[in-house]
Amino acid sequence: MVKDIICVACPMGCQISVDMNDNGEILSISGNTCKRGDAYARTECTAPARSLTTTVKVSGGIHPVVPVKSAQAVPKGLIMECAKHIASLEIKAPVKIGDIVCKDILGTGVDIIATNICPEA
Ligand code: SF4
Repeated sequence: MVKDIICVACPMGCQISVDMNDNGEILSISGNTCKRGDAYARTECTAPARSLTTTVKVSGGIHPVVPVKSAQAVPKGLIMECAKHIASLEIKAPVKIGDIVCKDILGTGVDIIATNICPEA
C-alpha cells in the first residue's frame, strides 16, 4: 500500500510516497528532497503527532486567557482530549512566558507552556 503525504517540515511542501506492507512496516520512501522529509514521513506513518496551540483561562489577570502551546508534538489521537483538558484548567496570574501550565499532559510526557505574559490585574 502506498500512502501519499505532504511534508510540512518546511515550506517546500514536498509530496512524499510511503510504501508500506500489510503489517504497517515501511518498505520505501520517495519524493522527499532531504532527510527531514524522510523522518517526517516515518513519524507520520507510524506515530503521527501534532503541536497543540490554544489558550488557558487565567484568574486575577489583566486578560481572561493566556495563549499556550505544547512543548513538543502530542500524539495525534490525543489532541482533542488534550485540548479538552486544557479547556478545563484555570491558572492564576501573573503568568510568564515559558511557565508550565500543565505538566505531562494526559501522561504524554509533554508539558503545556505559556507563550505570552499575563500580569496581575
Ligand atoms: S522533504 Fe525536506 S525540503 Fe521537502 S518539504 Fe520536507 S523538509 Fe522541506
